[in-house]
Order: sequence, then C-alpha cells, then structure tokens
Amino acid sequence: MIIYGTNGAHRSTQPLPGIACPECATPDQLHLSVFSRYTHIYWIPLFPYKKPVVGQCLHCQRAWDEKEMPGELKPLATALKKQTRALWWHWSGLVALALLAVWSVVMSQRDSRDNATYITAPRVGDVYTVRQEDSTGKAQYSLMKVVGAGANSVELVANEYVTNDATPLSKLNDPEKYSKEPFPLTFLDLQVMMNKGEITDVDRLGE
Ligand SMILES: [Zn+2]
Repeated sequence: MIIYGTNGAHRSTQPLPGIACPECATPDQLHLSVFSRYTHIYWIPLFPYKKPVVGQCLHCQRAWDEKEMPGELKPLATALKKQTRALWWHWSGLVALALLAVWSVVMSQRDSRDNATYITAPRVGDVYTVRQEDSTGKAQYSLMKVVGAGANSVELVANEYVTNDATPLSKLNDPEKYSKEPFPLTFLDLQVMMNKGEITDVDRLGE
C-alpha cells in the first residue's frame, strides 16, 4: 500500500494596520495568513500545489478564506500570496524522483553500451539472458553461459531452467542449473540474436 496525501505548512502572517474589520468594525485587528499545501508520499513532501490565504480578525475571531474574502482584503491577499514562495523542501520528493529517473537512464544507457561491447568480444564467464516466447506468445527467459571463447566463435552452455522474470540472473545462474553439453555459436550468431532481441542482456560478472 502506498501512503500518500496532502499536508500544509504555515508560511507567514501579516497584520493589516489601518483597516477596520468588515464584521465588527474594530480597526487594526485584521491579519492575513498564507499557508503552503503540498502533496506527500510516505510523508515525504512531493510538490507544493496551492497557497491558500486566510484572513482573520483577532477581535471578533471572524475568518475568511479566499472565496469569501471581503473586497478590500482581496488585493492584499493576492499580493501576499505572490510574495510567498513555497518552501524548497516541499519539492524534495519530486527532486529525488527526478534524480532517480536521471540515474536510471544513465545506468540503462551504460548497460546497453556494455552489452554492445561484451557481445562483440565475448569472454569466458559472460552470461547472456535469452528471451523466447512460449506457444501462447508469453516471454520466457533463460541464460546461456560462455565456457570457451575463440577468435570468432564461442562455446556456450544453456541453462536448463526458464522463468518469466526478465532478469533471471540471480534466480538461474547456478552452475548446477546449466547443461553439461556445450554448443558453439559464432560472434555473428550472437550479434544477430542480440539484434533480434533474443539476447536481452549480457552480464560480465565481477564488472
Ligand atoms: Zn472583527
């Protein structure tokens, strides 16, 4: 379950000297207060979305929200709202999400660059994630491991297990789970499989 919602923080309160209360006519008792509303997820502020202004008379306690604000207070409320900025930390969740998105793009670019490099120069120990579709068209994933590398071909052993997990490495990469019968593929075969999306990832463990 994701816990999210909204919260508010008081930003500032300004007295309005010289203005009489529209309700009780007492002068110098009106105040305007600005709040900042923000959304949160697990109580981490995500982004601010509203700055409500409330007017109040300290004498008669009458309060007005923006909708019912008396005409003479309206421009003052708008001005106060304009000069009140949201707190920087009300953006912290969104900033963190943006950083996370940038990081994952960088990592995935790095991963595909590594894949392209590894597939053209295989080394013993490289593990390929292999994607196949079953009879119903559902993707199944397995692994192939390089056990011998020549000048333009490799010896591979196939993993004997499949999973519908697109990242089967941690689940299937156990020496016991590989066939004992190696088979050859040329570098070109590997490249073709990669271009066709039959090899979806190359892991050079320890790098
Ligand atoms: Zn009043």
